[in-house]
Amino acid sequence: MTKVQPSVHIVGAGLAGLACAVRLAQAGLKPALYEAADHAGGRCRSYFDPALDRLIDNGNHLVLSGNVAVQGYLADIGATDELLIAPEPAIPFIDLRTGQRWTLRPNQGRFPWWLFLKDRRVPDSRVYEYLAALKLALAGPETRIAECFDAKKPLYERFWEPLTIAILNTSPQTAAARLLWPVMALLFGKGGKAALPCQPREGLSQTFIDPALAWLAARDCPAPSFYTRLKAVERTNDQVKGLDFASQRINIPTDGKVVLALPPAGISGLLPEITTPEKSCAIVNAHFRLQTPCALPDDAYLLGLVGATSQWLFLRGDIASVTISAADDLATESAEIIAGKIWPEIATALGLTAGTPLPPFRIVKEKRATFAQTPASLSRRPGTRTRFTNLYLAGDWTDTGLPATIEGAILSGHKAAAAILKDIGKG
Ligand SMILES: Cc1cc2nc3c(=O)[nH]c(=O)nc-3n(C[C@H](O)[C@H](O)[C@H](O)COP(=O)(O)OP(=O)(O)OC[C@H]3O[C@@H](n4cnc5c(N)ncnc54)[C@H](O)[C@@H]3O)c2cc1C
Repeated sequence: MTKVQPSVHIVGAGLAGLACAVRLAQAGLKPALYEAADHAGGRCRSYFDPALDRLIDNGNHLVLSGNVAVQGYLADIGATDELLIAPEPAIPFIDLRTGQRWTLRPNQGRFPWWLFLKDRRVPDSRVYEYLAALKLALAGPETRIAECFDAKKPLYERFWEPLTIAILNTSPQTAAARLLWPVMALLFGKGGKAALPCQPREGLSQTFIDPALAWLAARDCPAPSFYTRLKAVERTNDQVKGLDFASQRINIPTDGKVVLALPPAGISGLLPEITTPEKSCAIVNAHFRLQTPCALPDDAYLLGLVGATSQWLFLRGDIASVTISAADDLATESAEIIAGKIWPEIATALGLTAGTPLPPFRIVKEKRATFAQTPASLSRRPGTRTRFTNLYLAGDWTDTGLPATIEGAILSGHKAAAAILKDIGKG
């Protein structure tokens, strides 16, 4: 007689929920997924934009070749080929105030000899200044990134500041120093091979989301229930007993398991007894449809912009997409004002004729793009397990030790799946 598997219910079909579902399905379980929206992917998704007549991502997402959870997840769902990996770890930059251009060129191997070559590092920087990265490793829980570096040095404005804002979506004055260390350890410790920029071949959904849904369907897992918002969690002191969605109620049997893979605000509304980070930071993305496709220097996937509102420029065919992180103030502006501010910067960066008129655009404001990655928030990141024996948490904001990124979200899903498998004797 086949053994009946315990029921597992995953609420939230973002990357954390999907990564968890895939790992559980690999172990023979058939998790049920519930999602409030009409699609999976959460903060990492693509859609067709009628104004641009193109497929766009909600925001540019950069992952690196050395992101092990990302690579593992793509291998799990058979989508490794959907993520393009740049041949070189080179990242070009432009200072829009002066027009100066440079390219950061880490070498491929482990020993960072590139730091000793002037034309591979940030202009006007010294080798010893990069050693300040070690301060991140030794940073206490309250240390902020700006305290670790000399803000008067060009390296700060050209490297530490853009890197911090891009990775932590939080200004260096408030961002927690110890959270940048895992990424620095990858960039400097594992060598350029681990720091190759990656981008979706077509779009975020086609790389990260659709293959996962197809993979789960092929293993007879139930299709996700969309438009299914969790409204309440019925619980005793130590057990979840039921999930109340707007249109249905799911009773959780004693051996049933629940994973909440929701953003922190969702959890605090449902379960105030669980501590969560309280503040979030916005990311603004501006997509412009160019008259003709353009390319970046060295065919790089992205261009760093210094001394401007724009921070990173990505090109995909004739779509130029600009990311501005830690953008709470900018996000209060109208789409027209934002586009009018950014377009001249992008035209200059792409070397277009001065006065090239504003092309069709789409501004995407993600007001709660990530939690504010400050020391105060870090102390409020809960682990996978909760005081409820059958309730597990996943999401980029849970305590993965990593920044709130795709890598962190997937890792959190894997951790929730591992905890469940252990608890049912399959781990
Ligand atoms: C604009 C932008 C740019 C980014 N850039 C990068 C980048 O360059 N590199 C990188 O690694 N990361 C980046 N990130 C972060 C990355 O997108 C996230 O870390 C990741 O997508 C989080 O996944 P998650 O599953 O934890 O959460 P989410 O994607 O938020 O998933 C949670 C899901 O739960 C659903 N939900 C919420 N409430 C309920 C409810 N009550 N009932 C049912 N369902 C509910 C939501 O609809 C959502 O689908 C970026 C994020 C944004 C927004």
